[in-house]
Amino acid sequence: MFKVIKKDKRTKARLGVLTTPHGAVKTPSYVFVGTYGKFRHLTAKDIKRTGSQLVIANTFHLWDPALARKSGARKVGDTFLTRSFGLNIPTMTDSGGFQVLSLAFGDKNKVGKFMTGEAKPDASYKRTKIRITQKGVHFKFKGKKLFLGPKLSMQIQRKIGADIIFAFDHITSPLDDFAYNQKASDLTNKWAHICLDEHAKNQKGKKNKQMLFGIVQGGIYPKLRKESAKYIGSLPFDGFGIGGSYTKEQIAKMLKWVIPYLPEDKPRHLLGVGKVADVFEAIENGIDTFDCVIPTREARHGRLYTKTGHMDIRKGKYSADNLLAGEAGKVIEKGCGCLTCSNKIRRSEIRELIKSADRELNATGQRYCLMHNMWFFNNLLNEIRASLARGSYQQYKKNFLSKFNS
Ligand SMILES: [Zn+2]
Repeated sequence: MFKVIKKDKRTKARLGVLTTPHGAVKTPSYVFVGTYGKFRHLTAKDIKRTGSQLVIANTFHLWDPALARKSGARKVGDTFLTRSFGLNIPTMTDSGGFQVLSLAFGDKNKVGKFMTGEAKPDASYKRTKIRITQKGVHFKFKGKKLFLGPKLSMQIQRKIGADIIFAFDHITSPLDDFAYNQKASDLTNKWAHICLDEHAKNQKGKKNKQMLFGIVQGGIYPKLRKESAKYIGSLPFDGFGIGGSYTKEQIAKMLKWVIPYLPEDKPRHLLGVGKVADVFEAIENGIDTFDCVIPTREARHGRLYTKTGHMDIRKGKYSADNLLAGEAGKVIEKGCGCLTCSNKIRRSEIRELIKSADRELNATGQRYCLMHNMWFFNNLLNEIRASLARGSYQQYKKNFLSKFNS
């Protein structure tokens, strides 16, 4: 269930509450990615301590363990996924489509979800590593021939048991031209119906129903984006995801094409976006939740966020040898409420840990960094929500970005 509490007067931003069987999520909210249904080096208590409200796992990676599961839930509300995270927390899974379809992206170098500067639509671009049919995608993984389609994705996601699941869609590459995107969009529409039917069957008679989000595609083409939003938005999904691919610069433009066609009373999720500047773009264009690997992936490499920008904790200026110079003796950010900064763990100490070849010490360093980055993004979202409640979102954004060096 989703409820919009307040709409911003000057932008499309909105304040809301998304209620799931595992708790309520205040929106807008950041969604952290635990690919394998866990956050390495963090305990359940740690995840709670970061203030995280919603986490997402990848169906592709949980496929085998979820299907191999024999026994049912041990207690009410228990799912494969909450057991995996070890935490009673609202969860999402993607459809597996992104992983499967992006296996083809390796055909051309440097092309991923987002277009690189030079990547242009190329009509000669062919997918040689996968075969797409009306039923789904045939692909090879670790030498094995496999298949994933809308029906199977729904079945796997039911087993995994996330509160919010996504329809199986056809993501395109930035190299795909208009004609290919049109075809992919048509297939996404067709698969949407298969997902809805299978989902209805799966959820029949269930008390705690999973919410199914449909996905809008259409690449970088306004006509296709609008048609996709209109079509997918008219279907009885519980919410909507907006999928790639587009350049970072195109996010706001693309959302302006899509959002007007999506129902006001349903939640909207932006897939795979979450840099600081993008967070603001997404929210003020009407997005309620968005997931990204950035806070956790960067934390593992010692790249930390503060209100003034990034810091690479591995740099020499944070070394214990430089304690007298000042930087090394400080915490990551004064006034930060995360576990690491609250416990006054110094930058020099974190640097030593994260650079350590000793596995345990390195894990401790990563944990300190994860605790800080996740808290940082949750706190940013907390502040954004507070500004929306006060009616001063734009002022808050201006102040924040004027100090933040991206
Ligand atoms: Zn901190």
